[in-house]
Amino acid sequence: AVVHMTDIDIARGASKKPIREIGEKLGIPYEALLPYGHDKAKVSQEFINSVQDRGNGGLILVTAINPTPAGEGKTTTTVGLGDGLNRIGKKAAICIREASLGPNFGMKGGAAGGGHAQVVPMEEMNLHFTGDFHAITTAHNLLAAIIDNHIYWGNELGIDIRRVVWRRVMDMNDRALRQINASLGGVANGFPRETGFDITVASEVMAILCLSKDLADLQNRLGDMIVAYRRDKSPVYARDLKADGAMTVLLRDAMQPNLVQTLENNPAFVHGGPFANIAHGCNSVIATTTALKLADYVVTEAGFGADLGAEKFFDIKCRKAGLKPAVAVIVATVRAMKMNGGVTKDALGAEDVAAVKRGCPNLGRHIANVKGFGVPVVVAINHFHSDAQAEIQAVRDYVAEQGAEAILCRHWAEGSEGAVDLATKVVQLAESGQAEFAPLYPDDMPLFEKIETIAKRIYYADKVLADKKIRDQLHEWEQQGYGNLPICMAKTQYSFTTDPNMRGAPVNHSVPIREVRLAAGAGFIVAICGEIMTMPGLPRKPAAEAIRLSETGEVEGLF
Ligand code: ADP
Ligand code: MG
Repeated sequence: AVVHMTDIDIARGASKKPIREIGEKLGIPYEALLPYGHDKAKVSQEFINSVQDRGNGGLILVTAINPTPAGEGKTTTTVGLGDGLNRIGKKAAICIREASLGPNFGMKGGAAGGGHAQVVPMEEMNLHFTGDFHAITTAHNLLAAIIDNHIYWGNELGIDIRRVVWRRVMDMNDRALRQINASLGGVANGFPRETGFDITVASEVMAILCLSKDLADLQNRLGDMIVAYRRDKSPVYARDLKADGAMTVLLRDAMQPNLVQTLENNPAFVHGGPFANIAHGCNSVIATTTALKLADYVVTEAGFGADLGAEKFFDIKCRKAGLKPAVAVIVATVRAMKMNGGVTKDALGAEDVAAVKRGCPNLGRHIANVKGFGVPVVVAINHFHSDAQAEIQAVRDYVAEQGAEAILCRHWAEGSEGAVDLATKVVQLAESGQAEFAPLYPDDMPLFEKIETIAKRIYYADKVLADKKIRDQLHEWEQQGYGNLPICMAKTQYSFTTDPNMRGAPVNHSVPIREVRLAAGAGFIVAICGEIMTMPGLPRKPAAEAIRLSETGEVEGLF
């Protein structure tokens, strides 16, 4: 009989090794580990500095097709592939993002992978972990407090209190705080003004922590952040308020990557977690570059489908950090192929080869796009229990026609054993030396043209629609010296278009830009297409209602 075990049951059954042994696998001496309990540690900055002149391992990106609402198993496949590589004798580490705490109390869904391809300790990873997000929240809110304090004590910098763009953050879904009035209650409390809260992962501080090479770079970028404008519309920077030094102090420990392990005791760096819409959605540069110095292969994940996640991974993270990915794995599921072929969520269980075939052009487009970056591609079919043999074969055949290979993976059910074929193929592609990575557009292309290039080449749109106001704003930033920044697209993850219901591989669509934002510290321009929520709410029946401690002190109801 098949006993159904939940992710948390499997994670609890893990036989974890002491973190010291995980560090040893990567040649990290115990003095260089800063343990947080028995099975989590930060890797010290001194050690990171000491390995800088070593060569790099091969970088493997895990990305995906346009997903179903449940996710396609990118994290699960990242973990499975990392374990698979170790199983075939390679020294491999994985790099994934930390989880935002707030959403766990809304809708279930962890960030540590699933089934027999998970990172542990998963409860802690999904709760307070090593406190990085608290540090980011605190640094962000220190700056907010400094701004209002500056205004209170005379506003020497001439901040226009109607144009303070720095909001506050917390790591909780709380729609009541989206828009608030602050400094109410009289003279002693300052000057009343409208502001609001975003969730911590949407903070520019998060994006900066994830893109900084080191602490000096971190401080510099924090100083570059624009927090407000004067009446003449000139920007006020965090540096003008002398906030960058103290913020860096608050973030010093958070900048050091966290080391944990997979269910199979292989090293996993879990560090940073920026939003994948208004930010770039990748784990930290410092974790990735450190892992590359210590392992032969580093497997990392980019958020959302390849049209957003891989594009931003290549054009923002790799460009900025000088990374050269060796192979990209595109995760596809039969379910998502069907959904892209027009099947509704509740009908995904029934065999439907025709729908799979109709959905395949979505995958085909992602394959072509990723190859366009000069990175060799392999497709991983993440096997679900309900997949029919004929449906799997349809995907394989289609991918072969596109000049790539699709490999069936069973790591969710079987752990590393189920990912041996994928790992073998990845090594073969990496060793072939085929990769010739280049970003999609050069730094010096005008900003609007960059947006058009992404829309046309990656989304297959005919044109980009933007008001004069938006074009003028982009021009102004070019004049101010921000023209060389990359673009961070914020659009729906469910479609190549800006309409989440347009599945498959649509053509003849246009991309309307609603708003553009400058993240001067993170170093990108955000182009917003459609509704983007930076402070989520809880659902009618939040998961929190079922979360409790059992009599033996274990967390129940979290996953
Ligand atoms: P993504 O990173 O693409 O958002 P995840 O790897 O986090 O997706 O997986 C999303 C959810 O789907 C997790 O709860 C995971 O346990 C589940 N899942 C992933 N792969 C499978 C599979 N092959 N069979 C069943 N459930 C799966
Ligand atoms: Mg994921």
